[in-house]
Amino acid sequence: MELLKQRIRADGLVKAGNVLKVDSFLNHQMDISLFCEIGQEFKRLFGDCGVTKILTIEASGIGIAAVTAQFFNVPVVFAKKSQSKNIDGEVFTSRVESFTHGRVYDIIVSKKFLLPDDRVLLIDDFLAKGSALEGLCKLVEDSGATLVGAGIVIEKGFQEGGALIRGRGVRVESLAIVESMDDKTGEILFRD
Ligand code: 5GP
Repeated sequence: MELLKQRIRADGLVKAGNVLKVDSFLNHQMDISLFCEIGQEFKRLFGDCGVTKILTIEASGIGIAAVTAQFFNVPVVFAKKSQSKNIDGEVFTSRVESFTHGRVYDIIVSKKFLLPDDRVLLIDDFLAKGSALEGLCKLVEDSGATLVGAGIVIEKGFQEGGALIRGRGVRVESLAIVESMDDKTGEILFRD
């Protein structure tokens, strides 16, 4: 998605440790006009998949998922990062290792919000090592719902997450795939 790549080039900051900072438009301050373009692009890609629900993970996936959901006219469910494994006793749960914070936590979704006849689209801001997406895939699998695919805003193609999740047969559509980035020069190269 050209508009997104331009914005990453203009406002993205490459940090040490393979971290791309895009907090001026994506995951702290949010550019809602850009989110609308992103949502429409996800709709173009997954619009014929019969999506009944969008699933994301708190916190930074929620804004993008919420704007995207308007174009699908379906509810958004976000997996909660939790200490206590229970909301009303009935939850699906899985473990995620945080790329940016380097710790492991549980994510949970109430069973009443993921049903076997749901067709679920996963949405997240970043794909790095794939742990967040793997955790979301497991929640969908445990629920018996159908996973139609994953829409990612920025995939870091030089990390293993994309190959891992696609290798499991999941359709992953990333709107910008970073091929390489350099924290010394700030240069960001995209995959075509
Ligand atoms: P993964 O589980 O694929 O390793 O990482 C995905 C999660 O880590 C995303 O939900 C995102 O919040 C965070 N993340 C991974 N890489 C980056 C990055 O380069 N920049 C930012 N801002 N967040 C990232």
